[in-house]
Amino acid sequence: MTEHGGPDLSALLAQERRARLAAERLLEHKSKELFSANRQLSEHARKLSDQVVVKSAEAQTYRTEAEELKGENTQVRADLQKANKQADKAERRLWEALETIQDGFAVFNARNQLVIANRAYMAMFDGLECIRPGATYQDILEIVVEEGLVDIGFEDPSAWQARMAGRWQQDRIEPLTVKLWDERYVKFLDRRARDGDMVSLALNITETIRYEEKLKEERTRAESASRAKSAFLANMSHEIRTPMNGVIGMADLLCDTDLTEEQRLFAETIRGSGETLLVIINDVLDYSKIEAEKLTLQPEPFDLERTITEVLLLLKPSVQEKGIELMLDFDMFLPTRYVGDPGRIRQILTNLLGNAVKFTTQGHVMIRVTGIGDEDGSDQQRLHITVEDTGIGIPADKVDHIFGEFNQVEDERNRKFEGTGLGLAITQKLVALMGGELWVESVEGEGSCFGFRITLPLDEGADTPSPPHNTDLRTALVIDAQDINRMILDRQLSMMGLRVTTRRSAEEALADPPNSVDLIISDHKPPGTDGLALVQALRDRGERGPILLLCSEPGQLDGDPRMQGVTAILQKPLLRRDLFQKIGALGVTLPAATPEPEPPAPVMPVPESVATEPTESADLLRVLAAEDNRTNQLVFRKMVQDLAIDLRFANNGREAVAAYQDFRPHMIFMDISMPEMDGKEATQKIREIEANTGAPRTPICALTAHAMAGDADEIMAAGIDHYLTKPLRKTAICDKIEELAPGGLSVTAG
Ligand code: ADP
Repeated sequence: MTEHGGPDLSALLAQERRARLAAERLLEHKSKELFSANRQLSEHARKLSDQVVVKSAEAQTYRTEAEELKGENTQVRADLQKANKQADKAERRLWEALETIQDGFAVFNARNQLVIANRAYMAMFDGLECIRPGATYQDILEIVVEEGLVDIGFEDPSAWQARMAGRWQQDRIEPLTVKLWDERYVKFLDRRARDGDMVSLALNITETIRYEEKLKEERTRAESASRAKSAFLANMSHEIRTPMNGVIGMADLLCDTDLTEEQRLFAETIRGSGETLLVIINDVLDYSKIEAEKLTLQPEPFDLERTITEVLLLLKPSVQEKGIELMLDFDMFLPTRYVGDPGRIRQILTNLLGNAVKFTTQGHVMIRVTGIGDEDGSDQQRLHITVEDTGIGIPADKVDHIFGEFNQVEDERNRKFEGTGLGLAITQKLVALMGGELWVESVEGEGSCFGFRITLPLDEGADTPSPPHNTDLRTALVIDAQDINRMILDRQLSMMGLRVTTRRSAEEALADPPNSVDLIISDHKPPGTDGLALVQALRDRGERGPILLLCSEPGQLDGDPRMQGVTAILQKPLLRRDLFQKIGALGVTLPAATPEPEPPAPVMPVPESVATEPTESADLLRVLAAEDNRTNQLVFRKMVQDLAIDLRFANNGREAVAAYQDFRPHMIFMDISMPEMDGKEATQKIREIEANTGAPRTPICALTAHAMAGDADEIMAAGIDHYLTKPLRKTAICDKIEELAPGGLSVTAG
C-alpha cells in the first residue's frame, strides 16, 4: 500500500515474509512438539512393548502350568478310578471269601441292628425271611428261641435271651458255645468295635466237639483196656503163681527126701528157678500196676517193727549161708504201731534189704529206724529208715542210673547177681506214692546205704512196747563180737535203767569175776566158742543170775542139755517187744547178786507202781499221776525230773482212788481213758470220799488225748478242775504243778 492510503507492495511482501517466517517458526515449533510427542510415544510404546513381553512370558508360563495341571488332574482321576476299582475288587474278594468260609460273620451297628452277614451266618437261621439287615439282635434272639433253632436245654427262654443280651453288654465278651437244632455246635466270638459296631464271628466247632467226644470215648476205652490189662496181668500172675507154688513146694519137699547128688541138683534147680520166676512175675506185675496208676495204698494199722522183723526172718537163710550179720536198730522210744500199707512197706524193705544181702558177701547188713523232728502235738511220725551194708557198693557214676527201670550196674562183679532191675524203680515209686523220698549213699568196694523218709500217722490207742518196770535188775553184761550189736543192746538196756558192760568174746567175759552183774546177754556164737559152751562155762564157775542167749535159729538148740543153763532165748534179729517181755519175765526176785559198790545211775528212771511204795513223804510235794501207758509214765517222769516232788504213778483209775487214800497227794494228774476204771469215774470216787470225810478238795488235772470242744465240759462235770492236752509238754506240766502247789511248798529242786 502506498502513502496515500493504498497498500505498499514491499510492506505487503514484508508482511507476507513475516507471516511466512512466523508460520515457519510455528511449524518448527509444532514440529518440535510433534517430535517430542513422538519420542514420548515411542518411549511409551517401548515400555508397553516391554510389558507386553513380560506379560506374554508370564502368560506362557501360566499356560504351561495350566497344561501341566490339566495332565495331573487326568492322572489323579485315573488313579482314583483305579483305586476305586481295586477297593471294589478287595471288598468283593473279602465278601467272596467271607461267603465261602463255613463260619458265620456278621456286623451289627451301634444300635445292634444287623448291617451285613455272610451266607454261613444267615444259614444258621434256616432261611427265615425276617432275619435280614435291619433286624435287631433282640429280634434274632427271640426268633431263634421261638423257632427252636437253638438248643437252650432246660433254661427258661426269656432267661436265655436275657443272658445272651446281657453278654453283649459286657466289656469283655466271653466266647459262647451254642448247640443248634441240627446238632451243629457254634462258638460265638463277639467284639465291639470302636465306632460301636459289633462284629460277630460264629465258628462252626462241630468237628472239634465231635473229636473231643471221640477222644473222650477212646480214652474211656483205653482206660478200660488198661484196666483189663491190669486185671489180666493180675489174673495171669495169680494163675502162674498158683502152679508155681506147686512146683516150688514140691521141689522143696523133694529136696528133703533121699536123693542122689544129681537128683538133688535137679530138684534144687527147679526150686531156685521157680523162686526166681516168681520174683520176676511179681516185679513185672507191680511195675505195670504202678505205671497204669492202678496201684493204690491200703492203709491199715500195723506194727512196723514186726514187719521189719518178718522181712529179716525171710532173709535169714541167705544171710546164714553167706555168713553175714543181719541187724535191726529200732529207736528205743519210737512207737511201733502206725497206719500205713504194711504190704507195700514190706515190699520196700524186702527190696532194699534183699539188695543189701544180695550185694554183700561179708560184714553186715543193718536196718535202722529213727524218728525225726520234734513231733510234739502231732499224731504223725516222720520216720527215717536206712539199710546199710558192707557190700560191693555202687560206682559213683552209676548211682543215679540204678533207680531207672531195668537198670543194673553192668560190670563183672555185679553181673553175677540175678535180678530184673525193677526193684529200685518200684521201691522209689512206692516211697513216692507214700509221699516220701528215697536216696542212696555208696562207696564202691565199701558198701551202700539206702534210706527213705516217710511220714505215717500213729496208730492211736495202740500200746507202744514199754520197758519192763518191775525188775530189780541194775547191771547187765552183753557179750557179742559185733560192735553194732553191742552198741544197740547197750543203748536199749541203758534206757531201761541198767548199767551195761560189754565184752567182745567168751574169753573176755570169763575173765570178769562171777556174779558181778545181774543179767548176762550173750550172742549165740561169740568168737572162740559157741554160746552154749559159754553158758556152761559161766554156770560152772558159779554164775547164778539170768543168762539170755541171742540166737537166730533157736530150733537148732533144742534137746541140747546145756540149754538148762540158759534162762531164755532172744530170737535174732531182736524185737524190742521181745527184749522187754523176756527181761520183764525175769521177775523181781533174783538169786542174790554181789552188791554193787555204787548204785546205777539210770538214764531213764523206771517208774514205780503205787502199790509197791504206799508211804507218804512229809516235806515234798506229793504228785499222783494216773496213767496206764508205761511210756507215757516214763515221759511224765522225765519231764518233772528237775522238780523236787514225790511222784507216784497209778496204772488205772482204781489204783488212783487207792493211791489217793494211801499217798494223800497234793495234786493229781489224771489220764481220762484208762482200763478198769477211767479217769472220770476215779475223779467222781475221789470227790465222794472228800465229801464223806470232809477232806479238802485235791486239785485234779485231767490229761486228755484230744482237745475237743465239748469234751472239756464233760470232764469238768466229773469234778476235774484243770486239764492239759496230750502230748504232754514239759513247761505246761511244770507250770501246772507250781500253780497247784499249796502255799509254802516249793517244788524247785535243790
Ligand atoms: P535188681 O536188684 O533186680 O537188679 P534193682 O532195681 O533192685 O534191681 O537194683 C538195680 C541195681 O542197683 C542192681 O542191679 C545193682 O547193680 C545196684 N544195687 C542195688 N542195691 C545195691 C546194693 N545194696 N549194693 C550194690 N549195688 C546195688
